[in-house]
Amino acid sequence: MQSALAILLSLGIAFSALPHGPPRPAAMASAFSPATEVILLGTGTPYPDPAASGPATAVVVNGRMFLFDVGAGVMRRLKAANLPINGPEALFITHLHSDHTLGYADLILTSWVMRRRAPFPVFGPPGLQRMTNHLLEHEVAGGYRVSVHEIRAGIIYEKDGVRVTAIAVQHGAWKESFGYRIDTTDRSIVISGDTRPSEALVKAARGVDILIHEVYSASRLAPEDRPGGKDWPRYCREYHTSDVELGHLAGRIQPKLLILDHLIRMGASDDELLAGVRTGGYSGRVVIGKDLERY
Ligand SMILES: [Zn+2]
Ligand SMILES: [Zn+2]
Repeated sequence: MQSALAILLSLGIAFSALPHGPPRPAAMASAFSPATEVILLGTGTPYPDPAASGPATAVVVNGRMFLFDVGAGVMRRLKAANLPINGPEALFITHLHSDHTLGYADLILTSWVMRRRAPFPVFGPPGLQRMTNHLLEHEVAGGYRVSVHEIRAGIIYEKDGVRVTAIAVQHGAWKESFGYRIDTTDRSIVISGDTRPSEALVKAARGVDILIHEVYSASRLAPEDRPGGKDWPRYCREYHTSDVELGHLAGRIQPKLLILDHLIRMGASDDELLAGVRTGGYSGRVVIGKDLERY
């Protein structure tokens, strides 16, 4: 059955006639060339912002769904995005910090309840097998399992025109943290995961179609009035990438599109973050990632 939108399009009705206004250019392009699509499921951080779920990104290639990180809220965001809820073709986890993995049990178990029949592969840093074992402590025979692959940098997945390459990044004292590069027949995408400015990532991402990168606001960074808040600026500099630093990196990487993700705003507006990126020297196309947007 054709969707209402498809019917309107086939009739040549102007976008402005649609009740929710014109779709974004990226969404429009994807309606006509649907081979690879990025869906931002969660653009948030540990802070439980109702408008920004925990880190999670879907890359859909001709109907095949690949997930990158599984933050809190991932199952509900999948449903909201009208994506499969019975499990991905494969899951890739950047690192085992809680904000990136709180939805892992939900994904494993809820996809099973939603009629998943077979295990799906999960790729991530050392420790992933143990984490998975603990989640599935009461394992019984059945299709809800997953097959865990603890990875190192390099090509970790290659199947039917989809290749995923792990990039070792630096996330402060956290030992194992990865970004991922996804290459399909029509697009290249890099997801930074959590990282401070990374030369390995610059090298792996040069000229990529879409760069999805974490960010914090440089101008808002200050000690905070809470336990451990005195160390917050130092922590951010060692573990994360500021908007200004990201602008500098993106100037060297020259992605066709830069999406700011994992937004540590500290009160900064979209415009402030974008200004930071410009200050860093990037003049290309850049957007602030929002949950459920498609590119
Ligand atoms: Zn982290
Ligand atoms: Zn994080």
